[in-house]
Amino acid sequence: MIDYALLLKEHQLKATFQRMQILEVIEKYGHIAIEAIYEEVSRIHSSLSLATIYKNIVLMTQKGVLTEIPIIGEKSKYEIIKDEHIHLICTECGTVIDKMLDDDTAIDTEKVAKTSSFSLEHRQVNLYGTCDHCQS
Ligand SMILES: [Zn+2]
Ligand SMILES: [Zn+2]
Repeated sequence: MIDYALLLKEHQLKATFQRMQILEVIEKYGHIAIEAIYEEVSRIHSSLSLATIYKNIVLMTQKGVLTEIPIIGEKSKYEIIKDEHIHLICTECGTVIDKMLDDDTAIDTEKVAKTSSFSLEHRQVNLYGTCDHCQS
């Protein structure tokens, strides 16, 4: 269980009721699109509009509380910031699987950036393909 209030405070954001609700839904699903967050949150609090949720998600992404995961041909999904990991993204069903990095799977992005004289600020590694379930 994540301390949402603390997480928001650490990223210079006020722990509003809306943000806490959104974070709770994202934690429950792991990776989730804005529309699905809205559906879930509005079930409990019908007064929250999609625009409000959208605004809060954009802000929390800008502040580093959330990470946006672009998905080919679909709406982006969002997750709460966590230790660096790779995403395995199924282009059939849109499932996003987290893979933590270890010595075997780590990609030396710092070296890649360095050899291109590229100043690296942020990285996200996404592998697109078909999940185990969709292959069968
Ligand atoms: Zn799949
Ligand atoms: Zn993830």
